[in-house]
Amino acid sequence: MGKQIKTAITPTRAEDYPQWYQEVVKASDLAERSPVRGCMVIKPWGYSLWENIVNVMDGMFKETGVKNAYFPLFIPLSFLEKEAEHVEGFAKECAVVTHHRLEKGSRGALEPAGKLAEPLVVRPTSETIIGDSFSKWVASYRDLPILINQWANVVRWEMRTRLFLRTSEFLWQEGHTAHATQKEAVERTQLMLDVYARVAEEYLAMPVIKGKKSASERFPGAVDTLCIEAMMQDRKGLQAGTSHFLGQNFAKASGIKFQTDQETEEYAWTTSWGSSTRLVGGLIMTHSDDDGIVLPPKVASSHIVLMPIVRRPDDRASVMEFIESLARELKDKTYHHRRLEVEIDDREIGGARGWEWIKKGIPVRVEIGPRDMAENSVYVGRRDKPYKDKASINKDRFVAEITGFLDEIQDGLFDRALSFRKKYTVSIDDRNEFYDFFTPKNQEKPEIHGGFSYSHWCGEEDCEARIKDDLSVTIRCIPSDGVPEKGKCICCGRPGIGRVVFAKAY
Ligand SMILES: [Zn+2]
Repeated sequence: MGKQIKTAITPTRAEDYPQWYQEVVKASDLAERSPVRGCMVIKPWGYSLWENIVNVMDGMFKETGVKNAYFPLFIPLSFLEKEAEHVEGFAKECAVVTHHRLEKGSRGALEPAGKLAEPLVVRPTSETIIGDSFSKWVASYRDLPILINQWANVVRWEMRTRLFLRTSEFLWQEGHTAHATQKEAVERTQLMLDVYARVAEEYLAMPVIKGKKSASERFPGAVDTLCIEAMMQDRKGLQAGTSHFLGQNFAKASGIKFQTDQETEEYAWTTSWGSSTRLVGGLIMTHSDDDGIVLPPKVASSHIVLMPIVRRPDDRASVMEFIESLARELKDKTYHHRRLEVEIDDREIGGARGWEWIKKGIPVRVEIGPRDMAENSVYVGRRDKPYKDKASINKDRFVAEITGFLDEIQDGLFDRALSFRKKYTVSIDDRNEFYDFFTPKNQEKPEIHGGFSYSHWCGEEDCEARIKDDLSVTIRCIPSDGVPEKGKCICCGRPGIGRVVFAKAY
């Protein structure tokens, strides 16, 4: 037997992937469960990660002409009912406000009172309330397009929750646009999907497949739903962002009409698109290892931690002076539109200190003691390498090359995730082989199965439902880069519409 290698997270990914995820979130200090079931407390280390994602995305939205606005948290029930498919899709997860004050009841306990004439739904998404505003803002074709985004929280009541991946309340952005022509709305739907793909790949180092949802997986009320899908380390898919072409459905429901240049009256064409704190869950499950989270430098909560190694109290002042001057030099540098963020951790808690930062996923750890100082060098560890793999580097060279190191880490994480996805992605044309691919080989670890399969599908919901019932596998998307190819449906053998991506999913 080889020596057991100690990991900072127990259990490891291989031992129990779902539990490993919970432990990583806890150990990384990103978030914790709240007293309200299904809701989470996002701690500063997690919130700054989210803020960095927000800033990147917000900048990209604005480059395409989108402006931010804010709409009410409460939606009158009658608004949701305006679009039949929409209300049906969300009915099962709505939090509803029915009263507006508390009164002491006969037994002295506070009870809801002041029943509302019309119940208010806590927004699960805002198409209907924003549509109502759009109907007032639009009169002529000259008022179009309207390109709006809001950063907000939404509530979708969930029975089974998991921090960041599925919570009853989550943070997100929702974009809503209205256009004079179908063509323009379709192009906007695609444009925003491209923004999501860029954020995922270039910033979260998370490779994604762009595509379209099948009818059964579409957003309730949409004509088309585009999505980006990523593979997690348990080989399941995660939908990381969606962009919907809503046709004129919501415009008709909300009365978004305009005078054309021919002086006829028409309904506008609308889109909506959203991404959420789920991206953080995706990032965790894409990059983290058995020692904790691994943060991609471009969105990392912080980039570098500097830690003094002082054994003799007399050395402390001079080492700290060296560290503070190094911190100033580093903070003067910019890394992808952000100042380098540097932590100084001078707590005297021995090895536990370094491990805390490893678990929190900071990209670069630097230790400095009197001897390093005498040699004008620093002792550097990178989160993308084994923890023992540390190296002494000349301090000036370290400062000069730090952004290059961070880029190396960023690119390395993307490449690693992409190789992982490629390794577990196959094309299957045989039904038995398909069933075997998605059947867990070890019943104690039902989460470990094949991965993604590109297989033919006839386009019928029956086949989709059959596969979902049998294997809990769904069509993640009809990939947009798919090449036209003839083949037989993996389920029924009838002629297919092309290869689609099948996977188990979060
Ligand atoms: Zn079929």
